Amino acid sequence: MRNNRLATVAGLALLTPALAACAAPQEKLEPWQQAQKTEVWEPVPEAVETPAGKAPSDAVVLFDGTDLSAWESVNGGEAAWTLGGDTVTVKPGTGNIRTRQSFCDVQLHVEWRAPQPEEDMDGQKRNNSGVFFQERYEIQVLDSYQNKTYPNGQAASVYKQTIPLVNATRPPGEWQEYDIIFTAPKFDGEALESPGYVTVIHNGVVVQNHVEIQGTTEWIGAPKYKAHGCAPIQLQDHDNLVSFRNIWLREL
Ligand code: MG
Repeated sequence: MRNNRLATVAGLALLTPALAACAAPQEKLEPWQQAQKTEVWEPVPEAVETPAGKAPSDAVVLFDGTDLSAWESVNGGEAAWTLGGDTVTVKPGTGNIRTRQSFCDVQLHVEWRAPQPEEDMDGQKRNNSGVFFQERYEIQVLDSYQNKTYPNGQAASVYKQTIPLVNATRPPGEWQEYDIIFTAPKFDGEALESPGYVTVIHNGVVVQNHVEIQGTTEWIGAPKYKAHGCAPIQLQDHDNLVSFRNIWLREL
């Protein structure tokens, strides 16, 4: 019994410093000092100028109405589409155009306009074009204003893969805006390491919210992945007079 009591006393003696520490009065901090503990001061984001309606100062300007020097034809040679005012319009039959530069992860801004449709233009024939990331993954451009087609092929769809959340298309003749955040797929050798992802904002409305890209956007057949590196952006010649303006991107 006595031994037990001794053990208890010894144990308490060992605990005493710890108890004393717990009992020590905490330094009293003013609220602003407590708030300061969760402030992070580094790194400081670089300042970017964001003039209204124009490319941010850190953007790669792909087309500002001046010329098509950032582009070439996929068939070789200069981009042969039609320049006029601050716009560039598909010249049917000349083929897709693509950026001379290759890109991986980007934020892309592009404005497009479908002309008034002709009488026989329905579905996919109603002023079709497209924005291809890395020459493989198409975000559809189509006059989808009161125009029935398969929804995974309407404007702002990930073509033949993902239907947009809503149809934000303006009437033909009006300019439309796409702001697209594209995360490129990653490959480990020939194997897919992580798929691509895309977020699309159409006329200020989120229509694709970080959706997985299942592979190449095929007209016929299933999407598939085949390893590749950074690659150009393409605009599609689908034999329709779709116009574009104010195209820029930021590499992410
Ligand atoms: Mg298309």
